[in-house]
Amino acid sequence: MSKNWRPATQLVHGGTTRSNHGETSEAIFMTQGFVYDSSEAAEARFKGETDGFIYARYGSPTNDMFEKRMCMLEGAEDARATASGMAAVSAAILCQLKAGDHIVAARALFGSCRWVVETLAPKYGIEFTLIDGRFLENWENAVKPNTKVFFLESPTNPTLEVVDIAGVAKIANQIGAKVVVDNVFATPLMQKPLELGAHIVVYSATKHIDGQGRCLGGVILSDKEWIDEHLHDYFRHTGPALSPFNAWTLLKGIETLPLRVRQQSENAARVADFLAEQSQVAKVIYPGRKDHPQADIIARQMKGGSTLVCFELKGGKEAAFALQNALDVVLISNNLGDSKSLITHPATTTHKNLSDEARAELGISPGTVRFSAGIEDSEDLIEDFARALKSVQG
Ligand SMILES: *Cc1c(COP(=O)(O)O)cnc(C)c1O
Repeated sequence: MSKNWRPATQLVHGGTTRSNHGETSEAIFMTQGFVYDSSEAAEARFKGETDGFIYARYGSPTNDMFEKRMCMLEGAEDARATASGMAAVSAAILCQLKAGDHIVAARALFGSCRWVVETLAPKYGIEFTLIDGRFLENWENAVKPNTKVFFLESPTNPTLEVVDIAGVAKIANQIGAKVVVDNVFATPLMQKPLELGAHIVVYSATKHIDGQGRCLGGVILSDKEWIDEHLHDYFRHTGPALSPFNAWTLLKGIETLPLRVRQQSENAARVADFLAEQSQVAKVIYPGRKDHPQADIIARQMKGGSTLVCFELKGGKEAAFALQNALDVVLISNNLGDSKSLITHPATTTHKNLSDEARAELGISPGTVRFSAGIEDSEDLIEDFARALKSVQG
């Protein structure tokens, strides 16, 4: 297995092991346990003297292929595949913290991530500070003697703000804190948090990695030392393991990740440019456009523009609902990263639990709409928006 393969090759061949049948496609090992040739062999396996699997909650062959392939893509030493993105986020955060520790997190977080920081962690005596993560001085000012973890998403959901990952990592390293990056919106192809200095990367593999709306999954990637010290035992004994069937689905998904993400980003860029010209649209936020407020950071840390577009309609909620209802190719769904184009109105769905002030802080207004580009022909998407916008007041 070559470490020098380029991503598209890694994603087809990386981590593959074949059974004695020599199958082309990766095998699905739906097994809970493993058998040993002798009592001595079982003893040696448990002592860690021989390599091999013990129990599927700890690890299993199909999951191992998925983890190895993700490590190659991310440039990580080790990984654990989880049953969902939230299993990955909660494990990555909780496994390394104890009562009395402090997390600093950017407030623009996926709803469930924010719940983990704001509601779950304090139950166990873990303190938190939520900040506007766009400004490095906010990270610096939030640091306390007990700060152990910095947590952020970039670009953020749904307003596609970005956080200077290298800048945050520098501050974290000065105090020995770990930076956890939820890299879902960038995808592993457009942003490499570990190269930028982050310590731990988490994904909801449910999104672009499956990318075809089939199963939930997640993954945590880091260096071997951190995984051995913090995640290894937590993972074994709390049981967030991914089903081998879903690991196989994700292995098949990542084979085509570069093709899908390229098409999705091209479609997102075209739709963003089209929307920016429309009289009903107040503003468009797309990391691939020069008018993104943080275009300089994006140029430094991202290789592409994202598969998501955020825009605001002048007519508020009424206009947003009218647009969504009139779209035909683009489907109304709170999911993202799918090969089908999806659209959502954050204020009434994904971000409905936030207070009006909290939504305003994140830049989510009643007219804010999030578009997740699929892999359809961009002409059909533009035609769909052009037709649907006719039912929206300009
Ligand atoms: C979807 C998502 C999650 C949660 O992933 P699940 O697979 O749904 O558990 C976490 N973070 C971000 C940014 C997401 O988009």
